[in-house]
Amino acid sequence: MKLYNTLTRQKEEFIPLEENKVKMYVCGPTVYDYIHIGNARPYIVFDTIRRYFEYKGYSVDYVQNFTDIDDKIINKANSEGVSMEVISNRYIDEALKDAKALNVKEPTYAPRVTQEIKEIIEMIKTLIEQKNAYEVDGTVFFDTTSFKDYGKLSGKKLDELEIGSRIKLDEAKKNETDFVLWKPKKEGEPAWQSPWGEGRPGWHIECSVMAKKYLGEEIDIHAGGEDLIFPHHENEIAQSECCNHKPFAKYWIHNGFINIDNEKMSKSKGNFFTVRDIAKEVPYDVIRFFILCGHYRAPINFSREAVEASKKSLDRIKNCVKNLNHLINSTLIEKTTDEEKNCDILENIKKYKHNFEQEMDNDFNTSNAITCIFEIVRLINSNVSEKSSKKFLQTLLDEIMSLCNVLGILYETEQENNNIDEKEIEELIVKRQEAKKNKDYKLADEIRDSLKEKGIILRDTSAGVVWSKE
Ligand code: AMP
Ligand code: ZN
Repeated sequence: MKLYNTLTRQKEEFIPLEENKVKMYVCGPTVYDYIHIGNARPYIVFDTIRRYFEYKGYSVDYVQNFTDIDDKIINKANSEGVSMEVISNRYIDEALKDAKALNVKEPTYAPRVTQEIKEIIEMIKTLIEQKNAYEVDGTVFFDTTSFKDYGKLSGKKLDELEIGSRIKLDEAKKNETDFVLWKPKKEGEPAWQSPWGEGRPGWHIECSVMAKKYLGEEIDIHAGGEDLIFPHHENEIAQSECCNHKPFAKYWIHNGFINIDNEKMSKSKGNFFTVRDIAKEVPYDVIRFFILCGHYRAPINFSREAVEASKKSLDRIKNCVKNLNHLINSTLIEKTTDEEKNCDILENIKKYKHNFEQEMDNDFNTSNAITCIFEIVRLINSNVSEKSSKKFLQTLLDEIMSLCNVLGILYETEQENNNIDEKEIEELIVKRQEAKKNKDYKLADEIRDSLKEKGIILRDTSAGVVWSKE
């Protein structure tokens, strides 16, 4: 299995630190608003990568944090006249709802900064003792010149950064590139006691601390959006490697941006759509599928037309699976005389499954992996009918579902649950087939019409009855 490592700028073979185990840390959102489609991308792609590792037999320890201390959260709290926790708790809850609806598996641990202050202070103390950090009037800075590898992830050089920096020189800092580990309390802001007076942590230290606490000093994979490479991940490496005297993460993986008109979708630019808003127009599973249709490192241009096209594509897979389920529920045939033909079809499916795995083994190419699923859909659609045996149909269903489960597509979304009960539809279709067999066309038509009233359209095809929503 190969993955692109930002640290070495090449695709590398994945070799875990511990056999059959993956320790993975993903930077989570700052919780001051609903997550937008851009924020949903790391949720979905790294969840898919996790699922693929699990499919390959690894046990994955997956940590994703919530940044619940930040200027933006404090500003929002002040504007609403509530505490920081009210805001962060509200948007953590909302982010969890979106993640669940997008079929993102729960992380093994989902720590919050406000609950890790003790450990953060400990790490800062160690960095000061080791002369990697210094305090000036209640502010603690990391001394970037104390870490000889500073810049190794982003490829930036310290001297170039110093010269290139346009930020006004902070008098308290020794070097322009030094960054804050601890900042002193400001009026009206939440603060914690520390050896450097009341204050709160800077942003970068939280991830070094949480990765160490929940996964250990050395981890396999550290992930996040590509905007985090510098300075956030560069600074995490400096903190962790100076503190622990060990390489921090073996592989660094970064997702590309979701853009709108070729500009990064972001809250500050105002060019964003929340997951919640888009989910009013299309089901959540379409959002997930839309994101996985692109390679995780490539940019994706967001548009309503592109999402609509994804919906149509996903429907093709859904209809194939629905039809299989329907045939399995209605067939009475246990065995067929077509064993030889069935074997050929299953052989071909194995071939596409192998291709799917090869695409995923090649830096998680979900885009090409989806193409393999479509090959399987085509093969199934042209080779099943009411004459197929239950066993054959069930094998086809198991094969296609095992690949869909790797991508986390094809699950029942709550929106669908609210509107319609799939089992009920299936039962009515079987009843209608029986009515037709008994030449009770009146009853068959009544069933078709009653489903139509609920927005369910039935089509009689050579492969059996297929239903879809209007
Ligand atoms: P934030 O809440 O801004 O810290 O972002 C949370 C996660 O979403 C980080 O991993 C970011 O890199 C990622 N992210 C933010 N905007 C985008 C975007 N437009 N496209 C892809 N990833 C993004
Ligand atoms: Zn982080």
